Amino acid sequence: MSEFHKRYEMVIGLEVHVQLKTNTKAFCRCSTNFGDSPNSNTCPVCLALPGALPVLNARAVNLAVRAALSLGCVVNHRSIFARKNYFYPDLPKGYQISQADQPLALQGSVALPDGRRIALTRIHMEEDAGKSVHDRYEGFTAIDLNRAGVPLIEIVSEPELRSSADAGAYLRALKEILLFADVSDANVSARPYGQQEFNTRTEVKNVNSFSNVERALELEFARHCAVHDAGGIVVQQTMLFDAAADQVRAARSKEGSHDYRYFPEPDLPPLVLSEAFVEGIKYALPEFPSSRRARYASSFGLGAGDVEVLTATRAVGDWFEAVVARCGDGKLAANWVMGDVLATLNESGGHITEFPVAPTQLGDLIAMIKGDAISTTAGRKVFAAMVKDGGEPKAIAEKLGLLQVGDDAALESWIDQVMAELPDEASRFAAGERKLQGVLIGAVMKKSGGRADPKKLAQMLGKRAGG
Ligand code: ADP
Ligand code: MG
Ligand code: ZN
Repeated sequence: MSEFHKRYEMVIGLEVHVQLKTNTKAFCRCSTNFGDSPNSNTCPVCLALPGALPVLNARAVNLAVRAALSLGCVVNHRSIFARKNYFYPDLPKGYQISQADQPLALQGSVALPDGRRIALTRIHMEEDAGKSVHDRYEGFTAIDLNRAGVPLIEIVSEPELRSSADAGAYLRALKEILLFADVSDANVSARPYGQQEFNTRTEVKNVNSFSNVERALELEFARHCAVHDAGGIVVQQTMLFDAAADQVRAARSKEGSHDYRYFPEPDLPPLVLSEAFVEGIKYALPEFPSSRRARYASSFGLGAGDVEVLTATRAVGDWFEAVVARCGDGKLAANWVMGDVLATLNESGGHITEFPVAPTQLGDLIAMIKGDAISTTAGRKVFAAMVKDGGEPKAIAEKLGLLQVGDDAALESWIDQVMAELPDEASRFAAGERKLQGVLIGAVMKKSGGRADPKKLAQMLGKRAGG
C-alpha cells in the first residue's frame, strides 16, 4: 500500500447498476435474453424509430421496488422519468430514459461486515444502452442493440466508504442482498486526515468487476494524492480504467464533459405507486441472510461457524428450518444437518432439495432420539437406511429391531439373566460394590442387542445395588 495512505484519507462513493431480472425490456416487449444474435432483440421502440412510444414494464417496477425495500429505502409514491440527453453511437434515441429529480427511492443503507452502515443517497430506474463492439470488424465499430432498453436500477451511495477494501465489502454485501450487482462507476477523492470538507472527486468508469473497482480506486487515489502534494488542482472529470494496462486515464473530453439537459420524459406519465402496492411487496420480501444469521444465533443458540454453514444457501437454511419445525430442537437439528446430511451430499454431489430423506422425516427421527425411543447410534443406522431406500424412521427402526426397550418386564428379565450368568459380579454388586454397575449395564445392553433403554436400565440396576 502506498505511503499516500498515511497522509490522505480516501473518500469513495459508488454508483452501482443492477439489471432487473425481467424477460422483456423496460419499455417494449423485446426479449432481454443474453447471447442472442446481435440486434435480433429489437423493435421500433428500442431502435428509436420515429413515432414509437415506450410503455413501462410492470415487472421491472415490481423488482425495482423490491430492491429498494430490501435496502431499507423509502419508496417515493410518485417518481418521474426523465430524458438524459447525450450522443453515442449505441444510443439511437440520443437520450437514455432515466430518473433525475424525482427518483424511485431515497435513503436506505448497506451494512458492512464490521457493522458500519453505508448510507444510500437514492435508487433510480433507467434503461441500458446498446453495446459498441470494437473487435468484430477490422477498422470498424459494430453496434449491438440487444441491450438497449434493458431495465436497470442505479444505486448511489453517499461518499462514506473510506478504503478500496470498504468498496469491495460494500459490493459484496450488495450482491448478497440483490444476488446480482454489476459494478459501474466509482467516485473517489483524497483529503488530508483531519480535513472536514471533501476535495473534488473524479468518476472512474469501466470498472466491471469487484477487484477492478478496488484496483481502479487505488490508482486514482494515488493520482489525486500526487496532484495535491504538488500543489495542483484535481479537475472533476470522468476517467476510464484500463485493466489490461493497469491504468486509469482521462476519458476523451467529449465522453467526460456531459451536460445531460435532463427534462421530464413527455412520452411516459409519472410513475404513481399506491401504498398498497408498496406494502404488498414489502410483505412478500424474503428474509435476508444477515437477519437469518442473527435469528439462528439467538433462537437456536448456534455458534458463528454453524450459522455460517446453515445459511450458506437459502435452500440449506430452509431445509434446516423444516427439520427444526418438526423436532423442536435447533441444536440437534443443526448437528444432524451439518454432519450427516451435508456430509452425505458432499459425497454424492447432489443438491439438498433432492436429498432422499425429507426434512420432516429427519425431524421425526430426531424426535425419536430425543424421546429415547431409539439410541443415537441406532438413529444413525436408521438414517443410513432412509438415505439408501427411503421410508419413515419409525417403520425402519421397527423393521431393523432398533426401537429401544423401556418396558419394565423385559428389562427385569434381561437383568435376571445377566445376574445368573455373572454370579460373582452380581453378589459383589448386591454387597455394595457400585462400580460394577458399568459392567452389568454393558452386559445387559449386549444381551438386548443394544435395545435396552440405558436410562431406565441404570435406574433399575440402581435399585438392586446394596450398600
Ligand atoms: P453523477 O451525476 O456524477 O452520476 P451521482 O449523484 O449519481 O452523480 O453520483 C455521485 C457519486 O459520487 C455518489 O456516489 C457520491 O457519494 C460520490 N461523491 C460525491 N462527492 C464525492 C467526493 N468529494 N469524493 C468522493 N465521492 C464523492
Ligand atoms: Mg449517477
Ligand atoms: Zn424493443
